[in-house]
Amino acid sequence: MPTRLRQTAMGVLIGLTVMAAPLARAESLLRDAGVEHALNNLARPLLTAAGLPANRTQVYVVNDTSLNAYVVNSRAIFINAGLILRMQSAAQLQSVIAHETAHIANGHFARRGLNAQAARNATAVGIALGVAAGAAAGNPGAGAGIALGAQNSARRVFYGHTREEETAADKSGLRFMARAGVDPHALAEVLTIFEGQEDMLPGRKDPYAQSHPMSRDRLRAVALTADALTPADSDREDAEYWFARAKMKLSAYLRSPSYTLTRIKAKDQSDAALIGRALAYFKTPDLGAARAQMDALLARHPDDAYLQELSGWIELESGQVAPAIAAYARAAELAPKEPLILAGYGRALLAENNRDADARALEILEKARDRDRYDSRLLRDLSVAYARAGKDGLASLATAERYALQGQMNDAALHAQRAAGRLPTGSPAWARAQDVIRATEQNQRR
Ligand SMILES: [Zn+2]
Repeated sequence: MPTRLRQTAMGVLIGLTVMAAPLARAESLLRDAGVEHALNNLARPLLTAAGLPANRTQVYVVNDTSLNAYVVNSRAIFINAGLILRMQSAAQLQSVIAHETAHIANGHFARRGLNAQAARNATAVGIALGVAAGAAAGNPGAGAGIALGAQNSARRVFYGHTREEETAADKSGLRFMARAGVDPHALAEVLTIFEGQEDMLPGRKDPYAQSHPMSRDRLRAVALTADALTPADSDREDAEYWFARAKMKLSAYLRSPSYTLTRIKAKDQSDAALIGRALAYFKTPDLGAARAQMDALLARHPDDAYLQELSGWIELESGQVAPAIAAYARAAELAPKEPLILAGYGRALLAENNRDADARALEILEKARDRDRYDSRLLRDLSVAYARAGKDGLASLATAERYALQGQMNDAALHAQRAAGRLPTGSPAWARAQDVIRATEQNQRR
C-alpha cells in the first residue's frame, strides 16, 4: 500500500506545478495557507499544554510521500505529506505533533537515523532563518552565525534521536495530549501503523521507522501510560473538522482527480468533501464544476479567508485573472497578516500585467516576504516584481534568497554576488546579500 501510494502521488506530482516549488524538487515544502492553518489549529492546544508559546512553532508539510515527522529547532515541526494522508483521525495526527512537541519541550533535537533529505531541508530552511535573523538584527554577521548553527542541527537531524529521547518524548507527548483533551491511545494506534513498516525490505523502510525505533516494548509502554491518563474534557468536533480539511486538501492536491472523486461519497456534503471535489474538478479540468463546489462552500462560509484563497487559486491556475484578483483581495481583507494569502494576492496582481497592478503587487509581496521567508514561490514572484520595477539589485537578492532556501547554494552565491554588485554598499539589502554569500561559503566549508 505505501509503495502504491508513492507511485500514485509521484505520477500526479509531475502535472502539479503550483504547490511544489517550480523546480519540483522532492525535498521541497508544500506551502499552502489552508493546510497550514488547519495543522496549526491542531498543534496549538498541544504546544500550549507543553508550556510553549503557541505562535512560535509552525507546522510545515514536506512534499514527501514517506511516513516521517521531525523537528530541527523550536521554530518548526515538519510533517511529511505521506504521514498526514495515512492518519485516520485528528487524534492520530495530533499524537505525532505531540511527540514532536515533546522533542522541542525536552530540548532534544535529532541525532540518529533520519534520511539525507531531512538534513537538506533543515539546512535550507536553517539558512533562510539565519539570513532573516541577520537582516532583522541589522547585523549581517548574526545571520551567518545562525546559519552555521542551523547546519549543526541539520547534522543532528541526520543522526536521529536516541532511544532514551524517544521514550521521554513518548511520555511527555502523551501527557500533553491528555492535558489538551486528546485521547492518548491515538499514539499507540499510530505506532501500530508504523509497525507494519518494519516488515518491509530495509531499503523500503520508511524513514520514520528508522529514526523512531519501533519495538513491542515501546508500544506496550505507550499503551500502559495512555491507560493511566485521563484526558481533559474537550470538544473534539473542531479538531476533526480541521483534520478533515487538511487531509482532504492535501490528498486532492497530490492525487489524481479520479482517485479523489471515486473516494468521496455522492451524498457527502461536508466542507472537506466540497474542497476535495473542487480541487478534483479543477484538475480534471472542469472549471464550471469546480466553481459550483466553491460557490456552495463560500455560501456557507463567506468570511473564511482560506476558502476565498482556494477560490482565488483555482481561478488563477485556470487563467481567470480578474476573478482570481477579486477572491484574493477578499481573502487578504479577511486575513491581512497571512503571508501565504498575501503572496497569492500579489501573484494574481502580477498576472494582470499592467503598471498599476505591478506596483500594488510589489507592495503586497514585500509585506508577505517580511512575514514569511520560507516561501520560494513568493521569492520568485517578488523577483519578477522587482525586475518589472527596474530594481535589478533587489531582484537578484530575491533570487539568491530563493536558491538558498532551496538548498541550491552555488546558484545562491552567484545571484547574491550579482545583487551585492548592484546594491548600494552598506544598505540593508546589500547586507542581506552578504548574509547569503557568507552562508554559501560556510556551506562549502562544511
Ligand atoms: Zn521521536
